[in-house]
Amino acid sequence: MATLQKTTRKCPVCETVFAVQAVDSCGSHGCDSDLRPHYWGPDPLEYFVHSCLECGFSGYADNFNDGASEVVIRKIRKFLTPRTRDLTRAQAPFFRYEFMALIYEWEDRDSLEVADSFLRASWVARSRNNREKERLYQREAVRRFEEALEIGECSEQEQRAVVSYLVGDLHRRLNRRRRAETWFHRAREEQEMLGSDRPDRLSWLGDQIRRQLEAPSDLMD
Ligand SMILES: [Zn+2]
Repeated sequence: MATLQKTTRKCPVCETVFAVQAVDSCGSHGCDSDLRPHYWGPDPLEYFVHSCLECGFSGYADNFNDGASEVVIRKIRKFLTPRTRDLTRAQAPFFRYEFMALIYEWEDRDSLEVADSFLRASWVARSRNNREKERLYQREAVRRFEEALEIGECSEQEQRAVVSYLVGDLHRRLNRRRRAETWFHRAREEQEMLGSDRPDRLSWLGDQIRRQLEAPSDLMD
């Protein structure tokens, strides 16, 4: 079961110190078809990322320790500080993930990392029943996952297979059926390329791709 603990964060941009609830421990059982874990007990997803309400800086605990460059600080001040009211809306914790994704982009991080942040933003939007934001973040995520595959960011065959599947499932969720099928077939090819010496490797993925092609579901068994 997920447990939270009270702690503090110090903003690397404006040096404000503030109290947060952070995830102490958590476990999960199964997931949605886009790999969103089902956690035991209260959902901790909203408590992994925190935001400074003064300037808008957002990130995981490590991001607060790592700080930010002058160039990124200028962009935070220009684009996020005017939007800090979004962060105070109790029903909209997904903005924290959105702000983090934007900061990652300004930091020139890998497309995979930016994509992952938008994907998580879409998970939070879904749990808050905000379909419009969920779709917006899914579009942002899928574009960057495709880019990551195109420019060779996924060096492991296993990762290429999983990311290709995820691209397929995000297109499916966005009602882009043709593109979803194309990507599911690509994911299957990537999975099959894992080699006959490891037939069990990612067999769950093969099963999942087949299911999404034949009788799609938003849940993964
Ligand atoms: Zn700040």
